[in-house]
Amino acid sequence: MPATATRQVAAPLPVLGHDVLVPLVTGGQVPYAALDYAASAPALRRVWDDVAAYAPYYGSVHRGAGHLSQLSTELFENSRATVGEFLGCRPGDEVVFTRSTTDSLNLLAAVLPPGTRVFAFESEHHAALLPWGRRADTAVTWLDAPRSPERAVEALERALAAREPYGPALVCVTGASNVTGELWPVRELAAAAHAHGARIVLDAAQLVPHQAVDVTALDVDWVAFSGHKLYAPFGAGVLAGRTDWLRRAEPYLAGGGATRRVARGAAGEPVVEWHETVARHEAGSPNVIGAYAIASACRALTAAGPGRLAAREQALLARLRAGLAEVPGVREISLFGADAPRVGVVSFVVDGWNSSHFAAALSAEYGIGVRDGLFCAHPLVRALLAENSGGAAGECGAPDEAPAASAIRVSFGVGTPE
Ligand code: PLP
Repeated sequence: MPATATRQVAAPLPVLGHDVLVPLVTGGQVPYAALDYAASAPALRRVWDDVAAYAPYYGSVHRGAGHLSQLSTELFENSRATVGEFLGCRPGDEVVFTRSTTDSLNLLAAVLPPGTRVFAFESEHHAALLPWGRRADTAVTWLDAPRSPERAVEALERALAAREPYGPALVCVTGASNVTGELWPVRELAAAAHAHGARIVLDAAQLVPHQAVDVTALDVDWVAFSGHKLYAPFGAGVLAGRTDWLRRAEPYLAGGGATRRVARGAAGEPVVEWHETVARHEAGSPNVIGAYAIASACRALTAAGPGRLAAREQALLARLRAGLAEVPGVREISLFGADAPRVGVVSFVVDGWNSSHFAAALSAEYGIGVRDGLFCAHPLVRALLAENSGGAAGECGAPDEAPAASAIRVSFGVGTPE
């Protein structure tokens, strides 16, 4: 192979029965191993194929009488139904298409009833920490990062029981940590929230690519995730769940599509009747391709069997962790301990190495693409780095005792070769 050529290194995946796309980079010098699925998972070939097959037919959604508009509207609404089914939504739940998990949680923050207090563990991703309490009529409390799933439930119960005044409350919790991959006790946290009159939203950005998420069985009020972490392209996300708060609130975005009637009042003021359905929060022309791609990914993962994918991933995870344990100076960081169940995400530091140099070396010398940094979870990663200090902040070969400035994260998914 010429030095300038690129080379595809992913073998067809037997579990999915078709290839996935992996980046074809690195100038042909070394094969490329994409181990950064937690940031964005390469879209499935089947998803690209579905999108390409639909592309020649697409037209405006909800806005045209023509055949292509009708077809697009049908595909868009069918995509909504597919996603609702994939998530095990209850009858009457709504699937709102957004741009991402971040957008979904900001939408929920925008529709909170006045007086709502939101509770979130400080170990959350910033997307689940920062949208809350920005409105003057709402507030947020960050809870200490718990050191076990049981303590998470206890801490939440204590915080909810102590809240004053006793008004509307929302708990925001992750399903799987984007830093450690550790699984959170979602069902138990939901039970605790409901026992104290609170609602709960599940940030499933890292859970849904790895495990079936069933809104009904988990008894969460809402779930949020991003298409680009679920093997669909960038640009679309989902907020699914209860309708009441969504329907009572002002629209998240104001504009066409969200309104039933717009007129000019006698004094020149706007007179607007907003839709009461899901359209209320989907103003503007929707991302129909993004929605269709998410639905396609949901169908592909369902067909592959989430249990089979999870079993394959756990085998890879065990191999990775066993390999890391043999490398001198590698320290995994974790919140719940080494034995806690987790998805295919592992973060670590290497004594005597600067993490960004280490990650750059993995890429340049071995063609392994990982992430280094604080992973948009600064409070959590800083705390875990502080307790794992052991010379990791020093330059290569000059260890010192200060905590490392950042960590290295390896994460994988259905396209990771065995
Ligand atoms: N929540 C978690 C747990 C994440 O890992 C991420 C992204 O890494 C997000 C939320 C935000 O997702 P997005 O950037 O797609 O909005």
